[in-house]
Amino acid sequence: MKGKIRTILGDIDPKELGFTMAHEHVLDDPRVGGFMDADHVLNDYDKAKEMLMIYKNGGGQALAEASTKHWGRNTKGMAQLSMETGIKLVCCSGYLCENQVNMDEWVENKSIDDLVKEMVEEVTIGMDGTEHKAGWIKAGTSYNYISRREEKVLRAAARASRITGAPVHTHTSTGTMGLEQIAIMEEEGMDMEHFCIAHVSRNPDYWYHKKMLEHGVYLIYDGPGKAKYYTDETLINVLRKLVADGYEDKLMLSNDMGKKTHHIVYGYGPGLLYIKDKFLPRMLDEGFSPETVHKFMYENPARFYTMYK
Ligand SMILES: [Zn+2]
Repeated sequence: MKGKIRTILGDIDPKELGFTMAHEHVLDDPRVGGFMDADHVLNDYDKAKEMLMIYKNGGGQALAEASTKHWGRNTKGMAQLSMETGIKLVCCSGYLCENQVNMDEWVENKSIDDLVKEMVEEVTIGMDGTEHKAGWIKAGTSYNYISRREEKVLRAAARASRITGAPVHTHTSTGTMGLEQIAIMEEEGMDMEHFCIAHVSRNPDYWYHKKMLEHGVYLIYDGPGKAKYYTDETLINVLRKLVADGYEDKLMLSNDMGKKTHHIVYGYGPGLLYIKDKFLPRMLDEGFSPETVHKFMYENPARFYTMYK
């Protein structure tokens, strides 16, 4: 519904969303789509619940769950989790990208219209045979290329978004192909105010991020705490320049923790509270204003995830 955020338990007023991680994974089993890495299997319900309770007790209120059907999205489990923990989950329709999951059997034999129909149904009727609806549509591209099947999904996502008013949020591989995604979405008439590109922190290139933002899109930095890719210092320095350029209403933070080895409840880290407990205090210490930090975690996700129809 226009002006509401579609959580897995129903539509809410954007003001109710609260502190939000913009791209996470809590319960999924990507073996469903043929991705066999055991570290990426997050299928332990009790651990997912414990993870969300730690998040909640630390002040977390909501997160966008980025597991698609072929990433082994567990719709019933996520609805149950949200009910039992009170954490609001905004879940997704759509697909990931070709170089992570084989899209052959999922996309090859479907037309763009078939994909649109499937996405519209998941947003307006329910996912996986339930009444629990998707609140956003996912698409994705491979490292330095967009495959034919990925392009079909991007076009379908734009069309399904224009029908339903659900926002589109994409996966990029190592942060590449963002401008090329934008070109396809603009060709489809997608309003860039409802389009968001994730994982750009894996390619922390100020000029490139600015060029994407000039189109009106949102960007998600989901790399804080993952020092093996880039230090937090690198990300903070790019964010500082983008905020100085006036883009503080278009940036969101998250940790994209899709592996057991990202989560404290599985015995690892950094865990769902890293941003709240470590990265945000550091941003303040490094001169970002409390208003900017608040926008990244509250206002921007609440605005972006709002249905525009
Ligand atoms: Zn992800």
